[in-house]
Formats: sequence, C-alpha cells, structure tokens
Amino acid sequence: MAGGAELRRLEMYIDGTWRAAASGRWFETRDPCTDRPWALLPRADAEDVAAAVEAAHAAFTSGPWPAMSASDRGLLLYRIADLIAANAEHLADLEVRDNGKLMLEMLGQMRYLPRWFQYYGGLADKIEGSVTPIDKPGLFHYVVHEPVGVVGAITPWNSPLLLTVWKIAPALAAGNTIVVKPSEFASASMLGLARLFEQAGVPKGVLNVVTGFGEEAGKAIVDHPLVRRIAFTGSDAGGAKIAEAAARDFKRVSLELGGKSANIIFADADIDAAANGVISGIFAAAGQTCMAGSRLLVHASVHDAVVERILTRMKQVKIGDPRDPATEMGPVATEPQLRKVLHYIDVAKAEGARCVLGGTRSLRAGCESGYFVEPTVFVDVTNDMRIAQEEVFGPVLSVIRFETDEEAIRLANDSRYGLAAAIWTSDMARALHMPKRLHAGTVWVNAYRVVSYLAPFGGVKASGIGRENGAAAIMEYLEPKSVFINP
Ligand code: NAD
Repeated sequence: MAGGAELRRLEMYIDGTWRAAASGRWFETRDPCTDRPWALLPRADAEDVAAAVEAAHAAFTSGPWPAMSASDRGLLLYRIADLIAANAEHLADLEVRDNGKLMLEMLGQMRYLPRWFQYYGGLADKIEGSVTPIDKPGLFHYVVHEPVGVVGAITPWNSPLLLTVWKIAPALAAGNTIVVKPSEFASASMLGLARLFEQAGVPKGVLNVVTGFGEEAGKAIVDHPLVRRIAFTGSDAGGAKIAEAAARDFKRVSLELGGKSANIIFADADIDAAANGVISGIFAAAGQTCMAGSRLLVHASVHDAVVERILTRMKQVKIGDPRDPATEMGPVATEPQLRKVLHYIDVAKAEGARCVLGGTRSLRAGCESGYFVEPTVFVDVTNDMRIAQEEVFGPVLSVIRFETDEEAIRLANDSRYGLAAAIWTSDMARALHMPKRLHAGTVWVNAYRVVSYLAPFGGVKASGIGRENGAAAIMEYLEPKSVFINP
C-alpha cells in the first residue's frame, strides 16, 4: 500500500456513529486521473454488515422513526434536499476524485439530486390505502401499504450518488430503513451524504453506510435474513448473483443492469441534431453510462454524412483533467475498466470492424498516467459481432447501417439488453409508432440521455427488473396488507 500511511481515512456510518471496520482492515480508493490512491476506506465484512443491518432493524421497529408521522418524515427529506443543495460542490468534488467524471457534469447531477428528496418527501404523506368492496356478507375490508423493513442498496461507481438517491429517497419516504453499500471504487460521496443525514437529524440507524467489496460486504447484505428488500444497480453478472442469492430467502429485488442501447437515425432526421445526440449518448462520461448509445444504427443514405460529423467533432474533443471546465472527456473510472475497454477494441478489430477514430489508450499530455482512452468509432460493424452485443462501458461507438424501418427495428431489438433506445426522425408517424415496437424501458425521440425523478426508469430483458423514479417507485418499497374485520 504505497504511501498508505499518509492517506486520509474515511470512516463508515453505522447506527449513527463513524467507524472503522471491526477487523481493522482498510482499502484504497484511487484517482483515475493519476492512478494514485487518495484515501483509505474501511473494508467491511459480514460482522460490520450485521451491525448495520441490526441497527437498521432496531431503527425500523422502535425509537423515533416508526413513531414519526409521514408528514414529518417528508419534512426531514426536504431538509436533506436543502443540505445537498448547500453542499453540491463538495459532493461533486468527492465523486470526481473517485470516478474521474467531468466536474461540470457532476455538479449538474448534485444540483439535481435535491429533487428526489423533495419529490419523495412530498409523497411520504400521500400513500393512501383503500376501503374495498368484499364478497363476504357482513365483513369489512381495507388495504394499507406498509414499509417493507430493512432495505439493502448496492450501487455502482459510474453515478454513485444519483443512483443511490434513486433508492434512498423512496425507501425512506415509505418509512423503511436502509443499509447502503456503495461501489468499492466510489464510496466517498456516499459517506459525504451520510454526514448530511447526521446534520439533518435523521434518527440513528435509519441510514447506514458500509464500505467494502461486493463479494464480501455486498454479499453479506444480500444474505442477511433481516434485509427484506434489495435495490441493486450494477452489471448483469452482479445482478444475476444477487437475484439468485435473494431468491433463496424470498427477498424482494429490483435490478437496474447494463445496456447496449441503439441510437437509430432515419434518412429524414435532422442530421446535425442526431450526430450531436449520438456524441452525447456515447462519449459523455467516457461512455460509462448504463444508457450509453453504444450502437448507432444509421440509414445507409445518411451513413457517411453522420459519421463524418461525428468524426469532425470528436477529433477536436479535449481530453484531460475533469476539473478543468474546458475538458470535454475525462478518463474511465478504474484500471480494470481501462483494460476491459482496450480488450473490446482489440476484439472489434479482430472481428473485422473498421476503426476510423481512436482505438488506443490516450497518451496526450497530462493523460499519460491516468486511465484515458481515445474516443473510438468502429464502422462496418454487424450486429452479431461481440462489439455490438456486449456492454463495453467506455467511449466506443459501433456503427451499423440499415436500409428499411423493419431492419432497423429488428437490429435494435436483436440484443439481450433492453434499457433504452432513441430514434431520430422528422416523420410524426414514425415518432408515434416506433416506440411501441422497441424492446426498451426508455425510448427517446429526437433526444438522448434525458432522465427525470418524474419518469420511471429501468430495463427489460437483461437490463433488469423493476423501475426507479416516478410515483410508482415508492410502491416498490411498500407491501399492501389486506385487513378483514368481522364487526
Ligand atoms: P458491478 O456489478 O461490478 O458492481 C455494482 C455493485 O455491486 C458494487 O457495489 C459491487 O461491490 C456490488 N457487487 C458485486 N458483486 C456482488 C455480489 N456478488 N453480491 C453483492 N454485491 C455485489 O457493477 P459496476 O461495474 O460497479 O457498474 C457498472 C455496471 O452498472 C454497468 O453494467 C452499467 O450498465 C450498470 N449500471 C446500470 C444502471 C441502470 O440504471 N440500469 C445505471 C448505472 C450503471
């Protein structure tokens, strides 16, 4: 652990106290711009997870949290929203150190985060039951929606706080308590958010954060019998393991997984707008978004014009320090991710795809020691190639031609994933009819990467199970109870 002695130690948050791991073990978190560690985090194991889950269970069953009215719970979430707004720069800085995303993008995300606490805070006292007619004479029947109990949230490194807040806000608004395990590559901002919960006066045990590795701390959360609901965002490989483990104990699960989303450009599209949409879809965050538009399906008649626009723009892209406001693309977040992206570039070349931009690690001035990859474009891709079927999670675009609308739909749907898709067209009939034929949880028309706390988000097929955001998401953290009364 070179230089470990000088590194800052960030403690985890369990039962309202800041702690090291019971084992005394720590692990490094690294800055992807320099490949150097910048802090140490407690390496939690099953013992720490048990302490966190027991604290969450105690907070759920007794003390101030279950006694608090739903309206007061909502007000507490408003207070957290205010604190996030006041600390947006600090939280963004922690995220950039861990995952190397652009400071401007992270600031935008942090300034948007309060909306989730405001929206679900507002819903907290609007969870209504119902009195329902019943076919049993003399009996009275009603339905109430009760919190599930202890929720385990397990999240990835690419948008660490945003994706975790999508879980925390509805779970707490519904009256649950929660144990969060952020990614081992990006935990610092979640610890920063826990500080704000402490400052807001959220009762101890309501939010707990354990830091550590998936197969150790993450697995211990999934295996703990007192955890009744798992909210997971991450890879489909991780999701499959979690679903299997959760099934053994019949835990409720939501899984937000990977994607291989298609951006489909028809001949009648506004080509400039479409090319910009493609660029933002695949090169924002260096391609590390679950909804990355990693497959470009483009009508043969506009193929060359679209590719030319993308290349002209991306040849000028400024790669470098994500804190510099002039930088347009930062590094990928981790060393394993760098290796994975470079491996897929080799695979694509071997498969016969033609690399017309990038295709290498970036060694521009200032990028030499970090995990930087040149923006990469492959043409002559066919949809059966691995580069068109597997999630790369990097700045790598695969361009595939099509001739007819039917072919475009068939290619878009020919994927094990189904997270998102976009179509670019000026034809209103296409705009209206195509979305229902695309197998995806989100479809954009003449837009890309739009998400909102108001709009359900999630995938079909290998992109996952369940939806986050929107009013219905709060129901994912509630159990309906039928009550029959024989008066
Ligand atoms: P990952 O699956 O490797 O890890 C995600 C989290 O799961 C981490 O906290 C990890 O420690 C934990 N984990 C791993 N194995 C586990 C196990 N066996 N038991 C319990 N926990 C375990 O994913 P990642 O590399 O951190 O994130 C990138 C992936 O996330 C990509 O596939 C991306 O598409 C996906 N993602 C999906 C969405 C969405 O909303 N659909 C959003 C962002 C990212």
